[in-house]
Formats: sequence, C-alpha cells, structure tokens
Amino acid sequence: MNKAIVITAPSGAGKTTLVKMLLETRDDLSFSVSACTRSKRAKEIDGKDYYFLSVEKFKKRIEQNDFVEWEEVYTDMFYGTLKLEIDRIWEAKKAVIFDIDVKGAVNIKKHLKEQVLTIFIKPPSKEELYNRLKGRGTETEETIKKRYDRSVLELEFEKRFDAVVVNDNLQTAFQELEEKVNDFLK
Ligand code: ADP
Ligand code: 5GP
Repeated sequence: MNKAIVITAPSGAGKTTLVKMLLETRDDLSFSVSACTRSKRAKEIDGKDYYFLSVEKFKKRIEQNDFVEWEEVYTDMFYGTLKLEIDRIWEAKKAVIFDIDVKGAVNIKKHLKEQVLTIFIKPPSKEELYNRLKGRGTETEETIKKRYDRSVLELEFEKRFDAVVVNDNLQTAFQELEEKVNDFLK
C-alpha cells in the first residue's frame, strides 16, 4: 500500500527541523514539496523547500485543479499540496512526508484515510513557541505576530490527529517521532 506521513503544527513548533531529521535517517521517505506564495527565506531553495509562486500563478494552478489541498494560511499567503508530487513519490516506491498546516492535514487525512499517519508536533508552551519564532530569525515583528496569533486556533486542532509529539527536548521528540514512523511504515 502507498503510504504517507503528515507532520503538522503551529509555525515555530519545530516541524521543519524534525522532518529534516527524519529525511536524513530514512531513505524510504520523500518530501512533498508544496507550492506557496510567501517570499523565499535566505537558506531556502526553490524546488526543494517549496515551489515559490506568485499569487497569480498559484490561483491559476487552483483553477487547473492541480492541488490535492490548498489553504490561505495567512492573509495573501497561499500554500498547497500538488497532486503531481504525491504521484511522483509513490511512483518512486517511497512514502510521502508532508509538512503542512493543521487544516491541510485534516484534509489530507480525509483524502488518504488509513494510508496516512498524521502527527501533531506540540510546542512545550506558548511562550516557547514565541521564542522559537523570534529566535529563528526569519520573520519580522509583524509576521511573528501573525503566526503567533494563528497558533491559538492551530493548538485547538491537536485532538484531530493520529498522534501527538511534544517537542520540548529535540532529541527526545525525534526519538518519539521516529518510533511512530517506524511502526507505521513497517
Ligand atoms: P516550524 O517548521 O514548525 O515552523 P522550525 O523547525 O522552523 O519550526 O523551528 C523553529 C525554530 O525553533 C528553529 O529556529 C529551530 O531551530 C528551533 N527548534 C526546533 N525544535 C527545537 C527544540 N526542541 N528546542 C529548541 N529549539 C528548537
Ligand atoms: P512556513 O511559511 O513557515 O514555511 O509555513 C507556514 C505554514 O504553512 C506551516 O504550518 C506549514 O506547514 C504550512 N504549509 C506548508 N506547505 C503547505 C501545504 O502544501 N498545504 C498547507 N495546507 N499548508 C502548508
């Protein structure tokens, strides 16, 4: 059976860090590169971290029915999972790993059902979430606030997922995540 893992969390909880760690240790997983309309961060690579699109191009791809799911996660910032990404990864006989927002994660679960394991990464506290967003150094005060404000809604989604991993100590969280992924993929 073709399988997939969804990692979801409020922005700043550590999901990108944990997904990268998983990808380094397992070669049976492949990352679903999403399309998005936010600007590229300094260390990001177009086509590897995201396909960075203009809002116009993104809307065109919505019209073309190219997405499995998409969300306007923040005002004027669209993010979406491309159907072609999933096909490409399954054709290569790998499991798909997604890093997507909570609403996208719920939609992927509806779509893929038992083929997917959805894991919510929970920050140890709201204060720590704020500190991580600030500490990452990629955001302005304004975008930190947008992200932090949305985390109130995102944290309420916790119960909708198959599993929860608290990301307090990174190594402990990674071990827990790895166990859940191993169990699901074996
Ligand atoms: P997300 O993808 O959920 O937005 P990131 O993976 O970008 O989050 O992590 C946000 C920031 O927090 C990054 O600077 C990352 O290095 C840091 N971070 C991640 N996990 C931990 C942890 N367990 N303890 C301390 N800092 C962490
Ligand atoms: P960031 O701007 O920090 O990379 O991502 C912001 C939020 O958008 C995160 O919660 C991230 O997981 C989410 N995201 C990334 N790609 C997708 C996607 O394809 N679909 C949805 N729904 N959310 C996504």
